[in-house]
Amino acid sequence: MKKLYVIGMGPGGIEHMSIKARKALEESEVIVGYVKYIDMIKSLIEGKEVYATGMKGEEERCKQALSMAESKTVSIVSTGDAGIYGMAGLILELCKEEDMDSVEVIPGITAASAAASMVGAPLMHDNCNISLSDLMTPYSLIKKRVELAASADFVISLYNPKSKGRPNYLRECIDIIKTFRKGSTPVAIVKNALRDGEKKEIFTLDTFEDTNVDMFTIVIIGNSESYIKANKFLTPRGYLSR
Ligand code: SAH
Repeated sequence: MKKLYVIGMGPGGIEHMSIKARKALEESEVIVGYVKYIDMIKSLIEGKEVYATGMKGEEERCKQALSMAESKTVSIVSTGDAGIYGMAGLILELCKEEDMDSVEVIPGITAASAAASMVGAPLMHDNCNISLSDLMTPYSLIKKRVELAASADFVISLYNPKSKGRPNYLRECIDIIKTFRKGSTPVAIVKNALRDGEKKEIFTLDTFEDTNVDMFTIVIIGNSESYIKANKFLTPRGYLSR
């Protein structure tokens, strides 16, 4: 195999992509990705061969990328970090063992970090990511993880929080978290973090509304120490209480 870059392009705006990722795109002859993400980086890939697929084409996209990388330098792009609900895992699962060293994963700014930067410093203490998508994970297991994360006092970032097919999961998970946290716990909703159309709202568990939540949104729920200061969401690390 020649070369396959698995690129985390960051949340969307080109200025938040790493220099290494830009160099890999420049060097690549073929760019593979979901149509919408390819569109976000179109100014960087003019004139290159592009293989874009729709929403549920992950496996096909990865197989194409691996097969084209036999003879060409290829980049497959994910938003955020390619290793967090992105393409890095599936690429390495599908890759032949002897080709593994030709695959290079380039990290990007994941949605939780992007959203956190917009609302303050909510991830300052131990935190975890949970995806509410049940396409690959049964909902019973998702709820169990939410419950255990809440009981262990993690700050929780919920990826894939709500879609048309599962309108109630977010509400139900918030209710689980509420049994462990006080009503004044901050909850941030950030849509399209650090890219066109960005929007943020800060609620508490008591005032939380999920009306504006969709698949372009991430939801961050604070731990027992998190608080709101002048509309910023903070989780203290503990420096001032030593
Ligand atoms: N690899 C990506 C995550 C892909 S899963 C990453 O590391 O960020 C897709 C989910 O990520 C979306 O449903 C949404 O919850 C979240 N997401 C991705 N980009 C986002 C952005 N710019 N703003 C808010 N949420 C985002």
